[in-house]
Amino acid sequence: MRFVSFSSGSCGNCSLLLGERSGILIDAGVGIRTVKKELTALGLGLENISAILITHDHGDHIRSLGSFCKRVQAPVWTTETLHNALAWHPFTKEWIGPCRQVLTPGVWNQITEDFEVRFFVVPHDATQCVGYAIRSGEELFVLMTDLGHTTEDSMYWASQATTVVVESNYDDDMLLGGDYPEELKKRIRQGYGHLSNSDCEEAIVKFMHPGLRNIFLCHLSGNNNTPELAYQSAMQALEVAGVESGSISVRVLRRGLVSPLLNL
Ligand SMILES: [Zn+2]
Ligand SMILES: [Zn+2]
Repeated sequence: MRFVSFSSGSCGNCSLLLGERSGILIDAGVGIRTVKKELTALGLGLENISAILITHDHGDHIRSLGSFCKRVQAPVWTTETLHNALAWHPFTKEWIGPCRQVLTPGVWNQITEDFEVRFFVVPHDATQCVGYAIRSGEELFVLMTDLGHTTEDSMYWASQATTVVVESNYDDDMLLGGDYPEELKKRIRQGYGHLSNSDCEEAIVKFMHPGLRNIFLCHLSGNNNTPELAYQSAMQALEVAGVESGSISVRVLRRGLVSPLLNL
């Protein structure tokens, strides 16, 4: 499996998971022209997108989904609840119809030649928000973003994964000491908002297991976090879990920046 993130955070979320013969675009919160340009730079193209997976119906995850439906015409896979919302959402309603593919809950859904997918619901203030377990051969890629707190399901899948993408949204002190209105601070922290660095740290300690090779920290706040703070918390988790440094790769997915194309 290979993986590239085009951006991660409230400014836009979009990444591509590549197998031998097919690729899955995960969320469509980055413009199609940017994605096309970056794919070309990597020697790839829009034809490498065989399917699209959507986590939830917030703008930073679906802003460009309409253009992807129109231009790429790849099937868009998500839950029935989310598809029903996308059918009426101003960003997607005109284009989503022909691309609609509903994931069956509780089973592996074969969505491309290489990839089988299961979803798990996570707590977040969208119509619904889901994390994904994506399997290809012996590899298991698990993604959880935009979640107020971890759940049993999310920890179950992450604790078998070879790669985990997990939200590390904010630093407690920066959020509490910052100038966000009290209501917004509450929204972020009340359990249906976002995962903090310390929540993420706790999660890593919980899901750590010998088969895990890669951790990506995603959806960092631009105002209430820094890549250094998020990284430090994750490294602390590895120490608590007794993991030898260097045995697991930890990377921060950046806001508005493209990652290298990484072999997982
Ligand atoms: Zn988001
Ligand atoms: Zn969201």
